[in-house]
Amino acid sequence: MTVFVDDAGSGDLLFGVVVGAYREETSEFKYDIIDVRFYQENFREKQYLKESSRIVNKLVSDFNPKPDEAIHICQGCIFDVAAEELRKIYGEDRVKRVKVVGETQRLVEIAYLDEIRNLGYEPLTEREEKRGKSFFHMMRWLKDKPEMLRYAKTGWPRLKNYNLFQKFHPESVFKAVCSDCAAECEVPFQPRPDRPIYCKKCWINHRPQRRSTKKIKR
Ligand SMILES: [Zn+2]
Repeated sequence: MTVFVDDAGSGDLLFGVVVGAYREETSEFKYDIIDVRFYQENFREKQYLKESSRIVNKLVSDFNPKPDEAIHICQGCIFDVAAEELRKIYGEDRVKRVKVVGETQRLVEIAYLDEIRNLGYEPLTEREEKRGKSFFHMMRWLKDKPEMLRYAKTGWPRLKNYNLFQKFHPESVFKAVCSDCAAECEVPFQPRPDRPIYCKKCWINHRPQRRSTKKIKR
C-alpha cells in the first residue's frame, strides 16, 4: 500500500495551498490548507514550509501507515521540509519524492477549486495549462473586489510591480516629487536625480504614445 501526498494552489494567486493525502487501496482522501496568511506579510520567512510539514505529518499519521507502507510525496519544493521530516519518522526507504499524478492529483485539484469557488471566484477551465492567463484573470477579479485581497498571496515579491499589490510591499515604494506639478508622489522604483519623475496625473501627459493607442482596442 502507498500513501500519496500532493498540493494544489501553490502557484495560484488566490487562496492558500491545499495539501492532500490519498491511499488508493482504500480510496481514503484527506486534506488540509496552508493558510493564505503564510503567503502574505511574512512570506519571505518561508514559514509555509514548516506549516506544510506540520499538515503533511498530521495527514499521514491519520492514515496510520502499515510498517511496510510507502509514502510518495510530490517533488514540489513546498514539501522539502515535509519530506525530510517524514524520512525521520518513517525511515529513508519508505519516503519517495515523485511526480504525483492520477487520482491523488485530481482530488487535490478539486479540493482547491472548491475552496476558490467558495470565495465566489469562478476559475478558468484552462487554469492549469495557462498559468499566465489564469494569474491575470484572478488579478482582474481582485481589482473588482479589493476586499478579497485578504484571500490573495499578496506577499509574492513579483507582485510589487503591479499597482494593485504595491501597498503590500512598502519596502519597494519610494517617495518622490513630481517634476511637473511638484506634488508628492510614490513610485515603485528608486528615483534618480537625473531623470524626471511624474505623479499619476502628470504621467498621462508623458507616457509613450503607443501605450495610449493600445487602450482603444476592446
Ligand atoms: Zn504631477
